Amino acid sequence: MNIIQIFKQFPTQESCIKHLELARWKGDPICPYCDSTNTNPLVKEMRHHCNGCRKSFSVTVGTIFHDTKVPLQKWFLLIALMLNAKKGLSACQAARDIEVRRPTVWSMMHRIRKSMVDNGELLNGIVEMDETYVGGKPRKGNKKDDDDNTPSQRGRGTKKIPVVGMVERGGKVKTEKATKDTLKSKDLNELIRKYINPSESVLITDEYKGYNKAASLLPHARINHSIEYVNGLIHTNTIESFWAIVKRGIVGQYHRVSAKHLDKYLDEFCYRYNSRNLDSSVLFGNTIANMLRP
Ligand SMILES: [Zn+2]
Repeated sequence: MNIIQIFKQFPTQESCIKHLELARWKGDPICPYCDSTNTNPLVKEMRHHCNGCRKSFSVTVGTIFHDTKVPLQKWFLLIALMLNAKKGLSACQAARDIEVRRPTVWSMMHRIRKSMVDNGELLNGIVEMDETYVGGKPRKGNKKDDDDNTPSQRGRGTKKIPVVGMVERGGKVKTEKATKDTLKSKDLNELIRKYINPSESVLITDEYKGYNKAASLLPHARINHSIEYVNGLIHTNTIESFWAIVKRGIVGQYHRVSAKHLDKYLDEFCYRYNSRNLDSSVLFGNTIANMLRP
C-alpha cells in the first residue's frame, strides 16, 4: 500500500474504523471487557454498548491504537510509510509527512514497531550467522578504550552494542541484541539453539572463535575472511548485506540509537526484510492485524 492507496481506500475516520472492525471481529463485535457478543451499536463515534457488562467500547480498546487522539487515517499512512521505507524512516521525516508533532510520531512509531514481531519459526537450510556492532554512544574516556576501537578488532571488542544475526538463504532473518560486550561460544550456541532447526540446517560463519563449538550442535562450515570471501556456497554475504541495510538505516535515519531502543529498530528492519516477497496490501493487512491483537 502506498499513500495514494491509503487515501483512496480510507478517506475518513469511519472508513478506518470499519476496516479495523472487520479485521478484529469479522463484523460481529465482541466486548473487550467481558467477551460478550450481546452488543448494540451506538451512533456516537462508532462505539458499541455491551449488554453483558453495560460498558461501551470501540474497536481500538485494548489494542495498540487504544486511546489515541490521532486520526486513524494518519496511523494508516504512517504504517504504510514505515513498511515502504526500505532504509528506515526518521521520526522527523514522518512528522512532516503526516503533519503530526514529532514526539507524538516518535511514540506512534514505537507502538507500530511492537507489531513488527517475529513469528517464532525456526530457520532451516543454509543459515548464515554473524555479529555486528551498531549504534550506541561511543564511550568517552581513556586511551585503553580508544585502543579497543582500532580497526584490527573488526568491530569485535568495540564499545558499540553487539548484535547477532542469522539468516536463512532465500528466507528469513533473525537478530538479537547481545547482553554482553564479548560473545563467547556459550552465548552463540544458545542463540543457535533458540533460532535454528539443527536437524535440517547447515551453519555458515566466519572464523571468529566464538563459533568454535557450533559444530557440536549442527553441521558447520566456515569462511576464513583473511584468505577469501566466497568459497562456493560458503560465504556470509547474505547476512552482511542485511547488516549494510541496518547500518545505513541507523546512521542515516535514526542517527544514534540507544541500547534501550535498539531491539525495536532491529525488529523493524527484520520485519521489512522478512516480508519483502509479500504483496504490499497483504503486508499492510497483516500489520494491522498484529496491531489489533490485545
Ligand atoms: Zn461486556
